[in-house]
Amino acid sequence: MTTLVLIEAEGTAIKKASLSAVAAARHFGAVDVLLIGAEGAQEAAKIEGITRVLHADSTPHLAECIAALIADRAKDYDHIVSAATAYGKNTLPRVAGLLDVQPITEVVEIIDADTFVRPIYAGSALSTVRSRDAIKVLTVRNANFEAAKLGDASAPIEAVSAAVEVPDAEYVGIELTHSDRPELESARVVISGGRGLKDAANFKLLEPVADKLGAAIGASRAAVDAGFAPNEMQVGQTGKIVAPDLYIAVGLSGAIQHLAGMKDSRVIVAINMDPEAPIFNVADYGLVGDLFEILPQLKAELGA
Ligand code: FAD
Repeated sequence: MTTLVLIEAEGTAIKKASLSAVAAARHFGAVDVLLIGAEGAQEAAKIEGITRVLHADSTPHLAECIAALIADRAKDYDHIVSAATAYGKNTLPRVAGLLDVQPITEVVEIIDADTFVRPIYAGSALSTVRSRDAIKVLTVRNANFEAAKLGDASAPIEAVSAAVEVPDAEYVGIELTHSDRPELESARVVISGGRGLKDAANFKLLEPVADKLGAAIGASRAAVDAGFAPNEMQVGQTGKIVAPDLYIAVGLSGAIQHLAGMKDSRVIVAINMDPEAPIFNVADYGLVGDLFEILPQLKAELGA
């Protein structure tokens, strides 16, 4: 069996979520990876356990084009996999549509080549699904699969392209947010703020603590909707799924849709003035109190 894994690079670095997708795909057998864009192919070739790198350096970063390119080559594969990142979630369902198969999303466990475990009801239950489709199209949660390593390997790099006509979409350019902080989905520590922070200026109170802990900053949807934090920081059912070693929830209630994105974190610390807040049901450590008093104390304690 051969699996095709759609991977992502940031500059020349392969994203950790993609390395986890490769590790998941290795359950099925041989793995080819597909990289879109000019940079990263040499780095991708170092991923341990892959057979080859398919490099589409001229394919635009448009999900429609990438999906068409993958569908074009799909007959060579039993499984097509990507990380359940925004990129993967935007692309793979389109691939499944083109192939007329059922996409299986957010896989957290692979039982065998046809059988997968995935969360349902906003993560309240796990469902085991078996697919009879000839080609399985999967997105996998990176937190559940240890990342494949980059080693001394040097897999062959093969240039690929597709003549794709996309009548309804035009590639204009790509704008990336640059941050010195770790990427939210693969950070070891995440500190997230909610509506309790009251405004965008207060949301910045999380920054010195995050910097001291080497943490990524997340946000609840209410905080994002209120304009305290940008969209890409949202954690939850309709945001990013994180499972860091330490998750610090500040002034957020712990709605089920938020918990769906972070409840698998190893240690959860909650700061909230309401002792009945649902976040305390999943917290390992709870601080009941005013975040505007607790955050400065935490900052001072850390020497931030
Ligand atoms: P609130 O629920 O308003 O909680 C604020 C908390 O701050 C309260 O618990 C309060 O006690 C505390 N607080 C206030 N002041 C202080 C203070 N001074 N000190 C300490 N604590 C204080 N939400 C997500 O987060 N992510 C998602 O992906 C997501 N997807 C959704 C999808 C759907 C289909 C729907 C319907 C909803 C979704 N939501 C999501 C929204 C979710 O239901 C909640 O509305 C949202 O998570 C609430 O955000 P919050 O906890 O910041 O705000």
